[in-house]
Amino acid sequence: MVYLICAFLGSGVLAAICVPLFRKDNSIESAIIEETEWDLLQRKKEVLLGNIQDLDFEFKCGKLSESDHTQIRKEMTSEVAVVLDHIDRLEKSLDLDVLIRRETDTRKTSAKSKAQTSCGSCGAKNPPSNKFCSECGARLNRS
Ligand SMILES: [Zn+2]
Repeated sequence: MVYLICAFLGSGVLAAICVPLFRKDNSIESAIIEETEWDLLQRKKEVLLGNIQDLDFEFKCGKLSESDHTQIRKEMTSEVAVVLDHIDRLEKSLDLDVLIRRETDTRKTSAKSKAQTSCGSCGAKNPPSNKFCSECGARLNRS
């Protein structure tokens, strides 16, 4: 029974190992859209880590020789390292990305209320028809 499970997992692992190895840096990378790059990298990392777990399990089942296990594991680990490094670099620029996105969102919404006047005293937004701030009552200066 255990052997059957191993055989089943083994074939799945093989497919999981081979597919990303052959397609690496080609179709996967080029299909990455900037916005979802981080998500894809996270998923890639999860898959790779899962593969390593499966590999260890397979080794425990005796389906892999120790040298094969060591060899494949080394390759997989270095692949994970590449992904982790990529994620790390991406996260460093992500904060800026988030800031920019927030900024553009703010611009979009404020474009609608562009005509509003900011109170010089409390900063509250007032309709252009207001002569006095609805928040603090200060006189509004038209600029
Ligand atoms: Zn005010």
